[in-house]
Amino acid sequence: MRIIAICAIACLTLSCATTRAHIAPSPRLLLHFIDVGEGDAILLQWIGHRPAWILVDTGNPVTGDRVLDYIRMAGADELDMAIITHPHMDHAGGLFQIAQSMKVRAICDNGEDPWNNGDPNNFYRWYTSFTRARPAYRALVAGATIPLGEAELEILWPPAGGFAHEYINARSMVIMVRFGQFRALLAGDLIEPAATALARSVSDISAHILKAGHHGADDAGSMEFLEKVAPKVVVVSVDSDNINGYPSSEFLARMKVVGARTLRTDRDGDIVIEAQASGGISIVKSLPDSGPGVLERFPDGR
Ligand SMILES: [Zn+2]
Repeated sequence: MRIIAICAIACLTLSCATTRAHIAPSPRLLLHFIDVGEGDAILLQWIGHRPAWILVDTGNPVTGDRVLDYIRMAGADELDMAIITHPHMDHAGGLFQIAQSMKVRAICDNGEDPWNNGDPNNFYRWYTSFTRARPAYRALVAGATIPLGEAELEILWPPAGGFAHEYINARSMVIMVRFGQFRALLAGDLIEPAATALARSVSDISAHILKAGHHGADDAGSMEFLEKVAPKVVVVSVDSDNINGYPSSEFLARMKVVGARTLRTDRDGDIVIEAQASGGISIVKSLPDSGPGVLERFPDGR
């Protein structure tokens, strides 16, 4: 599996997992966009005095095994939190295997309950009974914040008052990850018109990295939304053999207009992004601790 990483320039020689106790690791934030075929799974890794791990989405039921292996390979034997942006199978399907194979301290989602809202798919019944009865379960809406070392996750969507739309995707959780000046917007399966509504309700949604909503489908974001995010890099989590034709040529064309470099899990495999507090990022061929291989560097700031 090819691995592309975007890595802080100055910190490549410091290893988190193997750092001796008397050497404080240089604080870093890694975002691992795991290739799960159809679906999303993003591992957020804080490297610092106390390592911390949050998994945003878990892939589909078939690739849950791969996500579990990846988490362990990255160095985690437990997760501080698993966040399910919305309970669709390509985002929540890996949770069963992961949460039964390693300790997951908290599970959060957007509170959506399709089973009780008239969708008879048994997956939703199993999902809600697996997650909602846990003491450490929480439904998150806009305004909630979650610490990740010196970084922070802020939930930007769905709004506390809800968002009326026939599709769950319109209420997918959207998360802004901040570390110093660095910002990454994880858009889950957000679709229009919710994306434009989000852009109009939040004063600043600009981000260095955008995880494209809804696998880069045509409805993944209007020009208004994308121009306000103004990403340098867009990551599309998509299956090479999906039946939906994702990502759409229209969405990719919009990415060109906003000047973003597009990375895709179907072509690039696992994508690892390492961020500096300054906002500086660079792209390397391998996991940051496994050796050199810088592909591309972005200067600090925007
Ligand atoms: Zn999806």
